[in-house]
Amino acid sequence: MAGNISFAMIKPDAVAARRVGAILAHVQQAGFEIRALRMVRLSRVEAEAFYAVHQGRPFFKELVEFMCSGRAVAMVLEKPDAVAAWRATIGATDPAEAAAGTIRKLFAESKGRNAVHGSDSDETAAREAAFFFPERELALLGWGAAG
Ligand code: UDP
Ligand code: MG
Repeated sequence: MAGNISFAMIKPDAVAARRVGAILAHVQQAGFEIRALRMVRLSRVEAEAFYAVHQGRPFFKELVEFMCSGRAVAMVLEKPDAVAAWRATIGATDPAEAAAGTIRKLFAESKGRNAVHGSDSDETAAREAAFFFPERELALLGWGAAG
């Protein structure tokens, strides 16, 4: 299954702006199968852990504040070459640099409040999915804790 699944998230800015439905429509029109989906509210500690790779970066504190500021939607998406396909669908981190038609171009407010998350590798996708979904559910996708 490796290579066909990405973790994705609709971030608190887009949830607060009531863009969940529009973004899910975009996800499905882009050919992704939604294999798991859950609305979540991150604690500060959880947001710090989810973005631990960015600890020490100048934007880290603001990122953590933002990610625990409201509800988010966690998803597992399936499509061939899912990680690259999802990153192409969401566009560049900064919406000002994102290609026309991408989710961030359409829905992001700024480089920080940028509507959606996408994993950056198959390994990260497996770790991020396990952060939000029980192993039992991931096993049903043929995608156990081993990734
Ligand atoms: N971020 C930010 N300022 C930056 C870089 C990143 O606020 O200069 C935030 C932004 O929300 C981004 C997240 O931190 O989505 C993770 O950064 P990364 O470089 O991994 O971007 P992504 O993989 O989300 O495109
Ligand atoms: Mg990243």
